[in-house]
Amino acid sequence: MNRKTITRCASCDGFGWFEADLSGVTEECDWCGGAGYVYHEAGRDSVIPKADYAAAADELEALELERLRELGYQGVAKKPWQQRIRKDTQLGRNPYSKTDED
Ligand SMILES: [Zn+2]
Repeated sequence: MNRKTITRCASCDGFGWFEADLSGVTEECDWCGGAGYVYHEAGRDSVIPKADYAAAADELEALELERLRELGYQGVAKKPWQQRIRKDTQLGRNPYSKTDED
């Protein structure tokens, strides 16, 4: 069985979205589903299912921290569901939340 690793999305470089134009309109990255990170397994990347976020949270957070440090950001990483850009998207919901709105 191949071990899945989590790697930064090659398409959006961990951002999870693209700024489409100067008006601030953003588009979610198709490659990673907006997460900014993907599973890398046997040479292939695949979207991390939302159901896996809780299990992968520590790893995602560490990767995000590393990415933000590269960008020169000194603060604390926000989780995807804490980012305003992801509000009202699938990723805008806290996977730890016990209340499922579905
Ligand atoms: Zn992406």
